Amino acid sequence: MKRPLEWQIATVKAAKPETSKAKTFTLTLPDWTPHRAGQHYDIRLTAPDGYQAQRSYSIASEPERTGEIDVTIERLEDGEVSSYMHDVVVPGDQIEVRGPIGGYFVWEAGTGGPLLLIAGGSGVVPLMAMIRHRAEAGSTIPTRLLYSSRTREDVIYWDELEKLRAADTGLEIFHTLTRAQPPGWTGYARRIDDQMLSEVVKPLGKSPKTFICGPTLLVEAAANGLVQIGVKSGQIRTERFGPSGGAS
Ligand SMILES: Cc1cc2nc3c(=O)[nH]c(=O)nc-3n(C[C@H](O)[C@H](O)[C@H](O)COP(=O)(O)OP(=O)(O)OC[C@H]3O[C@@H](n4cnc5c(N)ncnc54)[C@H](O)[C@@H]3O)c2cc1C
Repeated sequence: MKRPLEWQIATVKAAKPETSKAKTFTLTLPDWTPHRAGQHYDIRLTAPDGYQAQRSYSIASEPERTGEIDVTIERLEDGEVSSYMHDVVVPGDQIEVRGPIGGYFVWEAGTGGPLLLIAGGSGVVPLMAMIRHRAEAGSTIPTRLLYSSRTREDVIYWDELEKLRAADTGLEIFHTLTRAQPPGWTGYARRIDDQMLSEVVKPLGKSPKTFICGPTLLVEAAANGLVQIGVKSGQIRTERFGPSGGAS
């Protein structure tokens, strides 16, 4: 078996639209290695003239699925790799990948909880791997997801999150829609702030195992806000996807 950091050629098994901007790619890996929820793969594209571009994408699927992984990629306007993945790559294509990578932003059911997950935009991807892993492991660890999106149409994994919420008494989901809300919306309708964080965190106590992922500004605001309201900073882990975008 190859060591995790060697490049291998994955085959695109499926490409499924999640929203108008996010697509999930199922990649079959000749040298699959079990991952931990929260880890990512690097994808490397090579042009005919030899020019290469490489980006990181979190694993969306649970580690219990063997031989393949899902990655969910948000299409950025003018984004070199994300727009190529959306506009050009189709099932049957082969792409270079390496992973799984990362040992800090990871959660395993055995690590325990309670679990606080905070996402902005496509930052929900590694947190979804944790939620799927939790479900597969039969864990009932109290878990709360606070997920910020621009509009209802931008929410990735809506249906699956609703099913998991309904099936599982220990998982609670709080959406905030920052740009527009559908008629009758009863969730939050503003950017994440200290008041929202206190309401979501309160039942979990002062030291939930916390994972925050998304655009840099959202991650920083949420992490600082949590410390302000008394959550232990040593329990907070963050992952920044990029300079802006997502739910900002
Ligand atoms: C550990 C890690 C995991 C990641 N996981 C995911 C994932 O699961 N899904 C996913 O869609 N992305 C993820 N990203 C972001 C991803 O790696 C790329 O940065 C993103 O797809 C943009 O690449 P691009 O080549 O399309 O855009 P580029 O050509 O690099 O950039 C185009 C423009 O968009 C801006 N930009 C770059 N990145 C972002 C961003 N994230 N948000 C908003 N604007 C940006 C740039 O400043 C530039 O103006 C992850 C990043 C890291 C570090």
